[in-house]
Amino acid sequence: MTPQRNFVQAVAKAITFNLIFLVGFLASCNGDNPSSGDSGSALNAGREYMMWWNASAYDQIWKQATSQFKTTFGSLQNFQAASEQAKEEYGAQTTLKGERVFDMGSIFQYESVAKYANKSDLASFEWQLDSSNDILSLYVRDLPQEAPSAYLDYQTKTKLRLPFDDEWTVMWGGRSTWENYHADTPNQRFAYDFFVVKNGYFSGDGSQNAQHYAFGKTVVAPGSGVVIAAESSVPDNVPGEENFAQPLGNHVIIDHENGEYSVLAHFQRGSVVVQVGDRVVAGQKLGLCGNSGGSDLPHLHYHIQNTPFPLVNGVVDGEGLPTQFTNYFADGTRISRGEPVRGQRVHP
Ligand SMILES: [Zn+2]
Repeated sequence: MTPQRNFVQAVAKAITFNLIFLVGFLASCNGDNPSSGDSGSALNAGREYMMWWNASAYDQIWKQATSQFKTTFGSLQNFQAASEQAKEEYGAQTTLKGERVFDMGSIFQYESVAKYANKSDLASFEWQLDSSNDILSLYVRDLPQEAPSAYLDYQTKTKLRLPFDDEWTVMWGGRSTWENYHADTPNQRFAYDFFVVKNGYFSGDGSQNAQHYAFGKTVVAPGSGVVIAAESSVPDNVPGEENFAQPLGNHVIIDHENGEYSVLAHFQRGSVVVQVGDRVVAGQKLGLCGNSGGSDLPHLHYHIQNTPFPLVNGVVDGEGLPTQFTNYFADGTRISRGEPVRGQRVHP
């Protein structure tokens, strides 16, 4: 349920990053020199940096690094040592499987997914670039196999709408672990994490929830049904921290009375306005986006599963179901029925 978990666990031990850094670099990037940032130039720049890294041209990478990147590593020597250690762990890149650029506002993330000699899973090298294509960060994320599912061809029965009225960005969503880190967990196989992205995720330094564009946004019922869980007492986390003891945080679960159950998680404390037993209709307000539970930055988690509760006595329960929304816009194109994917900006 946490959008950044993959980043934290990801990198070979040597290349350590922390969330304070993550927050810091986002803050620093509110668009100086905006004219030079675009997906095409970020793709070219990312490819070049990946090539340099593979060729151990660390000094060239260092010359293109932002002060945040340099602060993270401390010195070129440290960056080189960390990179060499990662190379030992991963081995040589054998097959490039794909690449893409993820537009996060004034930040572009170039991702190169490849097979490495020493790893059975694929790995994604993720270079975050500022609007001048200078390097903000480098993450390595292992891409585990997707959880097996008997529901790959399933058609959502509930008439679903997006669970908000404004424009949000699909941070994690899609069927592969590349697009969607949830996809290796059976009941989150088709889950979504939605963020609000403008120039990054927040204004200011991002250290306060209220600075995040998603925080306090209205969340609505994606479909009609009966509320079977409504929790509103869990404190919101400080950005960068996470409450592992209460993974759902404040949440609402809706029984659509057709074998489908909607799970919406990480609401703001005290903001949930429905109660267990309430009958809700699609579009009805449920509460406000927050940062509670297994969430380190304000966002909305949403998935459908085939059993009422994602955790039963602390054990993951149920199978995730594909989630087709109806009548929404994705990057400006009207979609009558579809599954949004990572990077799309969506609104009803
Ligand atoms: Zn999530």
